[in-house]
Amino acid sequence: MKVTKIEVLEAELSGQDGIASWHHVFARVHTDEGVSGLGEVGMAYGTGARASGPMILALGERFVLGHNPFSTESIWERMLRKSFWAEGGGPVVFGAMSAIDAALWDIKGRVLGQPVHRLLGADTPTPLRCYASQLQFDWGKKSVNLVDATQYREAAIRAREEGYDCVKVDPLMIAGDGSRAAKLRGILTPEQRRTVRARMEAVRDGLGPDIDIILELHSFTSTAGALQVADAVADLGILFMEEPTHYNGPRAHNRAARKSPVAIAAGERLYTRWGFLPYLEAETMDMIQPDVGLVGGISEAVKIAHLAHTFDVGVQAHVCGSPLATAIALQFEAAIPNFEIHEHHTYALKACNRDLFLEDLQPKAGRFNVPTAPGLGMTLSPDAERSMVKTFVTA
Ligand code: MG
Repeated sequence: MKVTKIEVLEAELSGQDGIASWHHVFARVHTDEGVSGLGEVGMAYGTGARASGPMILALGERFVLGHNPFSTESIWERMLRKSFWAEGGGPVVFGAMSAIDAALWDIKGRVLGQPVHRLLGADTPTPLRCYASQLQFDWGKKSVNLVDATQYREAAIRAREEGYDCVKVDPLMIAGDGSRAAKLRGILTPEQRRTVRARMEAVRDGLGPDIDIILELHSFTSTAGALQVADAVADLGILFMEEPTHYNGPRAHNRAARKSPVAIAAGERLYTRWGFLPYLEAETMDMIQPDVGLVGGISEAVKIAHLAHTFDVGVQAHVCGSPLATAIALQFEAAIPNFEIHEHHTYALKACNRDLFLEDLQPKAGRFNVPTAPGLGMTLSPDAERSMVKTFVTA
């Protein structure tokens, strides 16, 4: 069995359902036996997703075409060592490697008639705990920038009523006029600190005492601001504060984490085992959040999880992509010993996203059944596929 063709499929959905920036890049790997697999790059938001499509084709042409799709370890190591740029890092090269790797695992599962978590040696678990993520964009069919504390309270109540026992919210991201907040670095103003307090108090009030809250900062803050936020909410029973600051070297993050009265979760902009190791050694991440579409794929995410396990650190995959990204994360989370909780992003509720695949992956009462269909078990909607831009390389 060998790989005969590698395709990139792109879906430009920016502006739909209130999502500002949303561009999916999928890899589809074809074989000479008629079986194909799908993977996804974890760059749908932010700037630069389009750069990953050509990288998938370049890596695929040189290191994957003509090889056996079961050789995931050998192919991964070749991409790492022989592409020159993967020895340095970054989302484009590791995002492309991630999409290829997931597609190869999908092929393996489809050929063997097993879901990926079974190939990784795990029982099918009981449904996974998951949380309602990014409540500052509301919890419903459209993404809306929430401003008033009462709106944060109402979004939290909606998530609670759907059965979630954990939510995540960024109390700084949206400014008083409803735009994305600017000037979040450095010391925060008294008004910003009051806003954080009011929004987080409202969320806690809406949820009651028995539901967990993750406070998201998206690396917008610097160490000083993150510590002001942590101090402002320390009595509200916050489970984790996420991404207190940037990852351009561990020093700022480590200082924030060591001084914070709230435990720290982070890692969605780190790549490979080597990226996570300095933070684990510094003991400044209490939960890691590898994105399976960015860290190097399923093969690498499993290694990162086991590395964290040796430090007694739990895992929550970062998930902000299409339903395929959800499927990939669930297979990974089902297969690791230190899974904590699954992220269900508010974007995963939107029709523009759900319509991409025939399978609609949604939790029930805050718990996610791990799919048991072969491979990743996902089927692109023919309607959605028709409107995607496709490029490819063949043997
Ligand atoms: Mg995050």
